[in-house]
Amino acid sequence: MNEKTEKLIDKKGIRGDGRKVDELRPLKLQVGVLPNADGSAYIEHGKNKILAAAYGPREMHPKHLAQADRMVLRARYHMAPFSVQERKSPAPSRREVELSKVIKESLEPALFLELYPRTGVDVFIEVLQADGGTRCASITAAALAIADAGVPMRDLVVACAAGKVEDQVVLDLYDAEDKLGSADVPVAYMPNLNAITLLQMDGILAPAEFEKAVSMAMDGCKKIYEIQKEALKTKYMVVKETDKEIEE
Ligand code: UDP
Repeated sequence: MNEKTEKLIDKKGIRGDGRKVDELRPLKLQVGVLPNADGSAYIEHGKNKILAAAYGPREMHPKHLAQADRMVLRARYHMAPFSVQERKSPAPSRREVELSKVIKESLEPALFLELYPRTGVDVFIEVLQADGGTRCASITAAALAIADAGVPMRDLVVACAAGKVEDQVVLDLYDAEDKLGSADVPVAYMPNLNAITLLQMDGILAPAEFEKAVSMAMDGCKKIYEIQKEALKTKYMVVKETDKEIEE
């Protein structure tokens, strides 16, 4: 064990940022934050700060990308140049192209694609500040933005990672754990349908550790799901109160 990894979990099982091994980072979710988009959401997941904006279902542009029998979902994940410590080029990197694909594929199972032929839904994700696990936080926010746009969904999609740090399986890795830990397992999940829509693994885990990581990540997803639903309800509660004031 080198000096760097020694600090990640102390003898009492407390991690570098003060959390227990099965604890999530603090979360904040808000919908309807961008009035110009059909639907939008903002997430703070630990130190990650991410905006998601959704449009559609609408006519596909360019038209040749339209599918005669289904809706097309497009996702664009982008990191702002100031979102990481070392300035990131604003041009799309290979990583961003991959994450855009992964995010799109993790959201698709929640949509009734076949009910909206020839249309498209676009979701744009802007990472304003990154601290590990941005793909997961992006999925959670993007699903919420799509729901906020009024697109019918089978369930919300919520995502969270688990991984291995200093021989322990831990929930929701932050940047230092992501970089210095030995494995990272991002999971996207539809809690109501009990269906996993994304499962990746970076690093090496024994089969038992892998199972523990997946189940820990699913438990984390269930907790985030409650916050996600609450964020959607809050928007409509605020509208209701405004309506009441108008009535009075
Ligand atoms: N990161 C960075 N510069 C980059 C890309 C990523 O500093 O150009 C950091 C960022 O904090 C990110 C973390 O590395 O959250 C882990 O990136 P990874 O590719 O594992 O995806 P993520 O965990 O964010 O889904």
